[in-house]
Amino acid sequence: MNKISKYLAIAIARLAGKITAQELKSEAFSLLNLDYPGLEKVKELHQNGKDEEAAKALLKYYRARTHVKTPDVDLSKVKISKQEQEWADDALNHTFFVHKGYQPSYNYGEDINWQYWPVKDNELRWQLHRHKWFGPMGKAYRISGDEKYAKAWAHQYMDWIKKNPLVEIDKEEYELTSGNTFEGAKENMRFAWRPLEVSHRLQDQTSQFLLFLSSPSFTPEFLTEFLVNYHKHAVHIMGNYSKQGNHLLFEAQRMIYAGAFFPEYKNAVTWRKSGIEILNDEIKEQVYDDGGQYELDPHYHLAAINIFCKALYMADANGFRNEFPQSYLDTIESMILFYANICFPDYSNPCFSDAKLGDRGTEVRNYKTWAKLFPQNEQIKYFATEGKSGKQPENLSKAFKATGFYTFRNSWKNDATVMVLKAGPKGEWHNQPDNGTFELWFNGKNLFPDSGAYVYAGDDEVTALRNWFRQTMVHNTLTLDDKTLKTRESVCKYWNAEGDVQTLVTETPSYKGLTHRRTVFFVDNTYFVLVDEAYGDAVGEVNLHYQLAEGKVNLDSKAMTVISDYKGNSNVKLQCFGETPLKMKEEEGWRSTDYRKRVERTALSFNTPKEAKSTARFITIIYPFANQKNVPALSAKFNNKQFSTSNVNVEVKVNRKKRTLKTDF
Ligand code: MG
Repeated sequence: MNKISKYLAIAIARLAGKITAQELKSEAFSLLNLDYPGLEKVKELHQNGKDEEAAKALLKYYRARTHVKTPDVDLSKVKISKQEQEWADDALNHTFFVHKGYQPSYNYGEDINWQYWPVKDNELRWQLHRHKWFGPMGKAYRISGDEKYAKAWAHQYMDWIKKNPLVEIDKEEYELTSGNTFEGAKENMRFAWRPLEVSHRLQDQTSQFLLFLSSPSFTPEFLTEFLVNYHKHAVHIMGNYSKQGNHLLFEAQRMIYAGAFFPEYKNAVTWRKSGIEILNDEIKEQVYDDGGQYELDPHYHLAAINIFCKALYMADANGFRNEFPQSYLDTIESMILFYANICFPDYSNPCFSDAKLGDRGTEVRNYKTWAKLFPQNEQIKYFATEGKSGKQPENLSKAFKATGFYTFRNSWKNDATVMVLKAGPKGEWHNQPDNGTFELWFNGKNLFPDSGAYVYAGDDEVTALRNWFRQTMVHNTLTLDDKTLKTRESVCKYWNAEGDVQTLVTETPSYKGLTHRRTVFFVDNTYFVLVDEAYGDAVGEVNLHYQLAEGKVNLDSKAMTVISDYKGNSNVKLQCFGETPLKMKEEEGWRSTDYRKRVERTALSFNTPKEAKSTARFITIIYPFANQKNVPALSAKFNNKQFSTSNVNVEVKVNRKKRTLKTDF
């Protein structure tokens, strides 16, 4: 067949709808180590040129294989949630669950259009290629035995391969055979073959393999297609690991999956060892000595813990735990305790940076799995059992100076008062320029929740939404002319968690010519006094921002007072005292509760002009209270008339009771 007629044949086959038909891929045999125990028959048949028979023998081998284990699936106990069942059923009509921020899910057409991009949010396009509905289809298949799920899965799997080629392709040939433009295909590769997405598929296809393996739709030909495609995925990651961050961790952990789950590949050991080596290196690189992950994002911190653990579960299932040193386990343990210390009593985490809220059930399940890894750790047991056994941490307040997270805490119970303040180093991609910000929990409620993230990146419209939530001024911290921080490297100048008055002094060189020093006094385990001082030769307006929880909040711009009127027994009075006259300004306030979800809330700032030689100084008293009848009268002033680089000295009055708060450092 000459070249032209070959193209014609392909074009005709495509028109006839046969493009997704499975072919026997002899190449699969060259990727496998045919001397692997159990593959003797496969080797013999292949060597005798009987590849069809060899593929049958290979499928038989996999269907009988029991020595490889995965912690992700137990075929004897497959369960499906109502939601997963819906995703599986929707997928039969090509309505694919891609992202929970975009519901209801979009339909990708009878002839699936893998380049369909209804909202130009990168996540929507990337995550289509994670095939999140394939796993639910596998579960639906195992539970119902209905072949329609397996048939649809095999069809979609093949359709994806055909329409999302990776190979460096010849432009002319591509346009002739595929009917798509070459540029379109190249652009598509950026999404379909981003290493993070590839790693998702690499991991999840191990479960899909098991769930569908017994199906008649899982033919010997399909097996060879699957093995060639899977191999291409692993090779792609090996050559294209992300440079850093959580992506690299995900990719490494999934290479361990690939190597462990398919030990029959010639390169399986290399893949596994590559993943293990990266995790062993990165756990030192990405985790500070205090246990915090360097993206300074509680959610990605949690994700990193789970990645490190997942690699261990796979190792335990298949007997290679010894490839991880003890220090790897010790670091995970310190990361878990870091996390416990920066969370609130209802297991929620501060939504600093791109963090998501999470839910209690998932968090408790996390602790339960961690408790199995660290059975001797009484604190992890305490959180795993929701306080029913184990021991609560001996500490209350705690500083993580390297990561720049500081927790003031008076109890581990629900009625606790807990402030978590973030003032750390520069941070990686998911970090936000929010140095100095905090969240405050009191008596069962988060009174100053972070604005959160709302969306990641996309076209200009989507990115503008993201950028609103990233602004420094939508956090509980100080800005110059409402601008976002230029420098994000805070230092801890002082920390004391003992006695009636606990104290933190942290300093951020926020802008050229303006340094923000924030001192926090936690007084009598009851209320907070924040002293914010902005010094340097910058000229402009200095703004001190506060963002409250949604609900009714009363502002008094004369008294510079904010009093919440939320239902229930958790409210707050906030009053600001300036050294110079202040102007209270109400601002746009939003809090993202989930991806693409947000609620309006009260936000405001206290503002004062600053000259080149002056320092802008504010004292804010934040007094949480349970009962509207007991709202205290507050006042405050500076005792030191001049700003000093080595001390803070203020006087506060609560119901006329005077108190001096000072610290030298
Ligand atoms: Mg934020």
